[in-house]
Amino acid sequence: MAYDENNIFAKILRGELPCDKVFEDDWALAFTDIQPQAPIHILVIPKGAYVSMDDFSVNASADEIAGFFRAVGTVARDAGATQDGYRMLANHGRDARQEVPHFHVHVFGGRDLGGMVKRA
Ligand code: AMP
Repeated sequence: MAYDENNIFAKILRGELPCDKVFEDDWALAFTDIQPQAPIHILVIPKGAYVSMDDFSVNASADEIAGFFRAVGTVARDAGATQDGYRMLANHGRDARQEVPHFHVHVFGGRDLGGMVKRA
């Protein structure tokens, strides 16, 4: 699947759409999810143009991967979620119901998050 330069997170990265930014460095941008599903619900996205985890894991450089996942940990720690716990989640493709075709990791926390995967 080709990267769509007009996806909503690409527009946020270019500054064409606003976001509730909580973190930014050379590798990643993090902002509050617009429809939060937990008291802490932050999206962390790489600065590079990658459709999903599959694209990112194949095509991103080692520096991009390291920088991105270090940012995810920093975001969770800065949100105060490290002590009580948090969940990170990335949806890839149809079965995972990925909505936005720019790779992103959700960071959830701030309450008991329940079981791992919803039963069908
Ligand atoms: P996913 O299903 O993993 O692709 O999740 C996409 C997430 O992006 C959803 O949780 C949406 O609520 C969130 N979202 C969509 N548009 C925006 C936006 N403009 N700002 C922040 N979060 C958004």
